[in-house]
Amino acid sequence: MQRRNTQQRRLIYDILSRTDSHPTADWIYERVKRYIPNISLGTVYRNLKVLKDEGLILEISDGKQSRYDARIDDHYHFRCDVCGNVYDIEYDIIEINPKVDQLRRSCGFKVSRFNIEFYGICRSCARGEESEKNN
Ligand SMILES: [Zn+2]
Ligand SMILES: [Zn+2]
Repeated sequence: MQRRNTQQRRLIYDILSRTDSHPTADWIYERVKRYIPNISLGTVYRNLKVLKDEGLILEISDGKQSRYDARIDDHYHFRCDVCGNVYDIEYDIIEINPKVDQLRRSCGFKVSRFNIEFYGICRSCARGEESEKNN
């Protein structure tokens, strides 16, 4: 039982780490089923939660739907309002440290972590193209 759980979890992690599309649990479920046909969506959710609790993946939620990311180094996310895709934004593009310092100086708050998400229209939607990602 324990061994099977570990194998399922590794497969889910592998699938997630091979994409940068920040997929939903449904998307992952469709792919896991190719290897484990009798797996349930609930099992996929449970494993995603364990991976998240272990700090191996990120859960990105907009309050309605969660997406998952195997990339756990420092980066931001941009979510497109049109296609719903989530894109990575490199940390050094947006300089946050001065803001954190400002917060400490003016409010006395010592920031240990933060969560910033950007919303808007992605490049391909702005071009009026059909997005190829996540289909
Ligand atoms: Zn888009
Ligand atoms: Zn990401």
